[in-house]
Amino acid sequence: MSKAVIVTGASRGIGSALAQEFGNAGYNVLINYNSSENEASALKSRIANSEIFCADVSCRNQVDDMIDFCMKKFGKIDVLINNAGISGFKLFNEITCDEWDNMINVNLKGAFNCCQSVLGCMLHNKSGKIINISSVWGLCGASCEVHYSTAKAGIIGLTKALAKELAPSNIQVNCIAPGVIDTDMNKCLTQQEMQLLINEIPAGRMGSPLDVASCALFLADDKTNYITGQVISPNGGFVI
Ligand code: NAP
Repeated sequence: MSKAVIVTGASRGIGSALAQEFGNAGYNVLINYNSSENEASALKSRIANSEIFCADVSCRNQVDDMIDFCMKKFGKIDVLINNAGISGFKLFNEITCDEWDNMINVNLKGAFNCCQSVLGCMLHNKSGKIINISSVWGLCGASCEVHYSTAKAGIIGLTKALAKELAPSNIQVNCIAPGVIDTDMNKCLTQQEMQLLINEIPAGRMGSPLDVASCALFLADDKTNYITGQVISPNGGFVI
């Protein structure tokens, strides 16, 4: 029976590449999206054994329905990738309470919701891989992105603590903290701002979604079962 993966926020950017690469590797893929239905459908048509499911990861009922759907379609869930995320660029003093809550709810509570909801299946199978997508800003903090950096640092804490709790059950929990990746998330930067950022990256380029997907495939492989609670940061030397 083929392995099954859930990729949250798979309609665009890094999530789309994750879904495509896991599909290429023979996985059954559940493509989660929130608003980009057309993109999710187009991706489904490019991945042999895939399904799409609309769910806002910050909403527990919707996440539970997504896990049930995946179990019905694929019979099991081997890998959960918590990738869905939003960012924001604002002075700390100008962040509203609603913006703070939304940032934490999507990026951090979303991961909590998905981890808790998928756990019954993974504990039953006594195996599973959870891969959480953080950011270099969760490691070192970004000015004018305090809410985002806080949520992404929380993802790292969640990863480490949950890894310890689940290691006896043969479930590995790891984290990928990408550097600057070429997706819609960075489209708000001007060409000049982007060039200044690239000048600070020793590799001399932005990362691609594929750079992140390669790390996830490595962590999902049974050969890496002894790795848990770790943070891998594909960032071209930007943050070491
Ligand atoms: P992106 O291109 O903006 O795509 C974001 C994805 O998240 C979309 O598929 C979107 O789905 C989904 N999403 C947003 N809110 C959601 C919600 N409430 N429920 C379910 N899905 C939701 O961003 P990206 O660059 O690929 O980022 C993916 C992850 O990598 C994020 O966690 C981000 O923080 C992290 N990251 C990105 C970078 C970077 O430089 N790009 C660097 C470090 C970390 P819909 O379009 O369907 O709404």
